[in-house]
Amino acid sequence: MADANDKVKDNVAGRFFVDSQCIDCNLCRETAPKNFKQNEDAGYSFVYKQPENDEELGQCKEAKEACPVEAIGDGGEASDLKSQNHRSHTLPVSE
Ligand code: SF4
Repeated sequence: MADANDKVKDNVAGRFFVDSQCIDCNLCRETAPKNFKQNEDAGYSFVYKQPENDEELGQCKEAKEACPVEAIGDGGEASDLKSQNHRSHTLPVSE
């Protein structure tokens, strides 16, 4: 599982990311070419654009599932929802 604390530095901020386990196999760049790019000098992939439509989102999810070393993370959903789960208790009604 990809580690959000171990992201490669080139990722753009947002839901998907690549961590340092990447072995530069090229699979994600073929699966989601609009979202993943190669850092040729360092020899890894990174997310250069977060998905902006359903097609790109599907390709990013596919790349994440197919990555042979599980270097792709999808951390956006949990963090987006986290702050909305706390409801304040109803205050006592005073008359
Ligand atoms: S599929 Fe995984 S290992 Fe292959 S280039 Fe992409 S992030 Fe790296």
